[in-house]
Amino acid sequence: MIPHFYYHPRMMEYDFGPKHPLKPVRLARTMSLLRAMVPSVQVIDPGLATEDDLLRVHDEEFVDVVRRIYGEGVGKEELFTYGFGSVDTPPFAGIWEASLGYCGGGVAAAKALVEGAQLSYNMGGGLHHSQSNRASGFCVFNDPAISLAILKERFGKLLYVDIDLHHGDGVQAIWLDDPDVVTLSIHESGKTLYPGTGFVHEEGANGSAVNIPLDAYTTGDVWLKAFTEIFPRVLDRFRPEVIVLQMGCDPHIHDPLGHLQVTVQEWLGAVKHVRDTRLPILACGGGGYEMSNVPRMWAAAVMTLANIEVPKLAPSDIPVEWGVGSIFDPTPTERGIGLASAQGVIEYWRRKLG
Ligand SMILES: [Zn+2]
Repeated sequence: MIPHFYYHPRMMEYDFGPKHPLKPVRLARTMSLLRAMVPSVQVIDPGLATEDDLLRVHDEEFVDVVRRIYGEGVGKEELFTYGFGSVDTPPFAGIWEASLGYCGGGVAAAKALVEGAQLSYNMGGGLHHSQSNRASGFCVFNDPAISLAILKERFGKLLYVDIDLHHGDGVQAIWLDDPDVVTLSIHESGKTLYPGTGFVHEEGANGSAVNIPLDAYTTGDVWLKAFTEIFPRVLDRFRPEVIVLQMGCDPHIHDPLGHLQVTVQEWLGAVKHVRDTRLPILACGGGGYEMSNVPRMWAAAVMTLANIEVPKLAPSDIPVEWGVGSIFDPTPTERGIGLASAQGVIEYWRRKLG
């Protein structure tokens, strides 16, 4: 059974336009594949987030600008100040409602765990780059940070785990000074990739920011080894009571935005480690820009967290042209790339976390 799955097609209205790499169709295809593989999945409409939900982690002026950006309009200078001046995160018609849409999933999924659920999903969310006072990197509001704020109503120690290709900089920054919210992010190094942060020395309050930066072209065996070495140490050290898991699937070898070489099965290995903690988990989406990867990786991750076995092949009614026929990847021939550098990071955290 897949419990507390919050989604609504309105989440596809979060759309920067046809030339933008973030393609809402990835959500529709994920839902089609998931429904084909688990026909019993009950999809719940979470409704929209409220302004009060946003204000848990965002500044009032910033929230106000997003509300006015279409309709009333805002000046060019304000657009730049609040993160909307780039081709990455341009304003679009309906941006306010669309942003409330995916944040609504984060609110509902968090409230489910507060009320005692063990697992909940907001696959339309995971927008981890947004800062308290500005939009950034395709992200207007930071739904994982909002989910964490709601989870604090019940849980004393919270762990955010981010397996996206990119550093979860917004969530880290928003919670950096709170020793009870630990952030763990594994990502391609900021030396070669946006947002240029996520190094080991960014420690936060009481060491609450744990970063695993990996060199460009690091292969999935090394990626999973680094995660497997450091994640249990974070659990032992901080003893979290709940986990928010950001499941960006852009570390995949064929994703066009980065240079990691992780296969579906290696990426799912990290998801399994999180599942096996048996802690309550809120799982959200995140990056993922290759349309044949996202549906199979997300459907497989949703099933894995719910302890449903993932079949090797997609059901035959899924269109062949989606390219998701085989859920897993062939075993790659290249192994061990980036190992020496990753060993340095592992050693650093071994010494630090014990
Ligand atoms: Zn990403």
